[in-house]
Amino acid sequence: MPTESPTDVVRCPTCRRRNRVAAHAPGVPHCGTCHAALPWLVEAGDTTFDLVAVRSPLPVLVDLWAPWCGPCRMVSPAVERLSVDRAGRLKVVKVNVDVAPRTAARYEAMSIPTLLVLSDGQVRDRIVGALPEPALRQRVDAVIGAAPS
Ligand SMILES: [Zn+2]
Repeated sequence: MPTESPTDVVRCPTCRRRNRVAAHAPGVPHCGTCHAALPWLVEAGDTTFDLVAVRSPLPVLVDLWAPWCGPCRMVSPAVERLSVDRAGRLKVVKVNVDVAPRTAARYEAMSIPTLLVLSDGQVRDRIVGALPEPALRQRVDAVIGAAPS
């Protein structure tokens, strides 16, 4: 197991300070300044998927995408907004299927975008194609139990 987690810098939506967020951690990342839950949006590949997504302490929205996929670019902003609006309740893991073919095969992603909603490592929902944002949020909220907004 890697001893160091790759980190990303994210801006706290509450106080705007920059924070480092680990790709995998035992708990939800919080802002070092105001202690608000931070958006948790990270990338994973074949070797890191179990650590980052399957063993996540939060439910996970997995975005199986590729750079050449037009519908993936359409759904991506909605996926990223969910990581902000559901900070502390949802982790978003982006998987580029071109560099993670085993993960795509494991979840039988025959076409992309394919979005998976995982909790406790299990697939609770699967969304194929670019769903309109309100419908996507409903599907995710149904799994994570968030109040609609
Ligand atoms: Zn903050």
